[in-house]
Amino acid sequence: MMPTVPSPLAVLSHGSGARVWDVDGTEYLDFLGGIAVNALGHAHPVFVDAVARQAGRVAHISNYFASEPELALAERLTRLTGGDAVYFTNSGTEAIEAAVKLARRTGRPRILSLTSSFHGRTMGSLSLTGKPALQDPFRPLLPGTEQIAPTIEALEAALAEDVAALVVEPIQGEAGVVDLPAGYLAAARDLTRRVGALLIVDEIQTGIGRTGDWFVYQAEGVTPDAVALAKGLGGGFPIGALVGFGDAARLLQPGQHGSTYGGNPLATAVSGAVLAEIEDAGLVANAALRGAQLRDAITGMGSPLVAGVSGRGLLLGIVLTAPVASAIVAAAQERGLIVNAAADSRIRLAPPLIIGDAEVAEFAEKFAAALTAVHATTTTSPTGATA
Ligand code: PLP
Repeated sequence: MMPTVPSPLAVLSHGSGARVWDVDGTEYLDFLGGIAVNALGHAHPVFVDAVARQAGRVAHISNYFASEPELALAERLTRLTGGDAVYFTNSGTEAIEAAVKLARRTGRPRILSLTSSFHGRTMGSLSLTGKPALQDPFRPLLPGTEQIAPTIEALEAALAEDVAALVVEPIQGEAGVVDLPAGYLAAARDLTRRVGALLIVDEIQTGIGRTGDWFVYQAEGVTPDAVALAKGLGGGFPIGALVGFGDAARLLQPGQHGSTYGGNPLATAVSGAVLAEIEDAGLVANAALRGAQLRDAITGMGSPLVAGVSGRGLLLGIVLTAPVASAIVAAAQERGLIVNAAADSRIRLAPPLIIGDAEVAEFAEKFAAALTAVHATTTTSPTGATA
């Protein structure tokens, strides 16, 4: 493998529900969920059955043809999102590439996104990703792309009639679960509409029930021009989508975009089954309930290392008072708990939407122990006072 990932944290073998095991048989409670992907957890019978059944019928047919699972998923997604047409991809970055092409179709040159944002790593989406460390090795980037500060004032200053689109994550997941200023999405909707620019919401990490609502833009009472989806959409099967609303749903014309695998029967059948299970089992409400319980548990730990909790539902950021996120991840892993260091001073939690009381309690016990262990190593005074 090319050395794009510094060093794997473990070699995993299999999973069940919110648990995974490594090749040595060590068990972990998985509170990363494949980075906000495994909505139903691991090896959920609905997921396994959907893969097996569709693989046994027809897996792939090319986009010269349509299939029942593809049409059914497009219908389900337009119902859930309130959008009008769907373009299927295989990943999040491809959903953003489709959004970039949608924006180009307005004929306007500029595409805005936010500093510290993450929209993917292919060249179009990387050009929107507001992280110089990721962008700089690959310049020149896509012309016309620019990042602005995540404030309503910066948006007001940047928006003009030459702006094609603003692309925005409702919560910046890769930055460490960083919330936008209150009212940002609604203000962005008003301001983009005023200059005729598209509002494209990247709900690749926040969408599909993770935040305790199907989508954050819905909770904020905003109708975007397009929404990008992936991650939880397949629950572990690679699939993404760009959903267009109103006129934006008709910007891409026949032959203007395409993908060999996008919307294939296997991916869309599995996604349809995952979404049906999320609806039938009430997992969006569960995400809200368990998120509130986790938030209470974390603040209740009273650790001097914890400054606060960001995010919504089951996309939570634990804001630390020191840059010890990697040490906490290691201490948690030693205790059989997987969490993520999304930034030096922020731990990200994105567990499966199926977690219940037992998983919340187990997380609380293991995470508190990890915090205590790391706090002990940060105390430097011989008297034991905290550093
Ligand atoms: N957009 C957001 C908000 C993401 O969190 C990610 C992945 O982390 C992407 C886009 C890119 O998705 P993918 O890794 O499937 O290409």
